[in-house]
Amino acid sequence: AKRAGRGRSRLFQPGMDTLLHERREMEIDLRRALALKQFELHYQPFLDLASDEVIGFEALLRWRHPVRGNVPPLAFIPLAEENGLIVKIGEWVLRTACLQAATWPGERTVAVNVSPLQFKADTLLETVKAALERANLPPRRLELEITEGALLDNTDSVIRTLNALRDLGVMISMDDFGTGYSSLSYLQKFPFNKIKIDRSFVAGASADSEAILRAVAGLGTSLGMAITAEGVETAEQLARIRGERCTHVQGYLTGRPMAAEQIGDFLTRPDPV
Ligand code: C2E
Ligand code: CA
Ligand code: CA
Ligand code: CA
Repeated sequence: AKRAGRGRSRLFQPGMDTLLHERREMEIDLRRALALKQFELHYQPFLDLASDEVIGFEALLRWRHPVRGNVPPLAFIPLAEENGLIVKIGEWVLRTACLQAATWPGERTVAVNVSPLQFKADTLLETVKAALERANLPPRRLELEITEGALLDNTDSVIRTLNALRDLGVMISMDDFGTGYSSLSYLQKFPFNKIKIDRSFVAGASADSEAILRAVAGLGTSLGMAITAEGVETAEQLARIRGERCTHVQGYLTGRPMAAEQIGDFLTRPDPV
């Protein structure tokens, strides 16, 4: 009876009360999800373009809800950011990703998405240290992906945290570069190891997006940063990316996100490209 609202909304226009009710239900469920072990991490490979080797995986959060099914991250992460739950969820993600990465063959890195809110929570450095120690994972094998939202205010404290993480030996990537308010000055101001160029610029939909990709890759390279092209889906896109100053590639072409148990098999398969 509790979720009758879902069926009802197909018959009637969902009113404000329905939407609020649905949101409240989702929030209640989200608060319980950690304890009920409904979260899982999937991993998407990324390749080094010089060697065509899979050198790491990005951890992507999945919520398996018994009634809602698989809830995509973009459907619940904004809510978890609004109510602060993302900090606890993010700690679980860091812990789990480090533990799982420690079982992978080779020196592969694990990239973990860090919400701006975690960044501002003051506990990030301690959380990262604890996750690495518990998994006995060398810091160089952890990469933190941050978005420009983390950089908007408190510049000094953000730079301090970034520097402390880098001193620890963790790598820092600027995620989704080019999508929000990111400005080229960020690349000079903040000590990133890598820029991930959003897939909207990789798809090659327009001459403009190609020009932006080229400019960002050029500037990042001259600042000594690695450059990942995100969302590469076709062989044509990959061929084009190889002509740019990108160092890494990630996308459906080279591998979809997969369950942790699939990684061993995936790595013994012949080269995807
Ligand atoms: P993101 O960090 O930009 O992650 C890449 C997203 O693009 C993933 O979606 C991935 O499945 C998708 N993707 C990868 N390759 C391709 C491709 O070739 N084509 C297309 N169309 N899509 C591709 P996903 O897993 O749904 O995650 C969405 C977003 O949710 C992520 O975007 C990230 O912002 C957020 N997210 C995921 N996991 C976490 C997490 O643990 N913590 C936080 N704070 N955010 C997370
Ligand atoms: Ca990411
Ligand atoms: Ca991204
Ligand atoms: Ca994105």
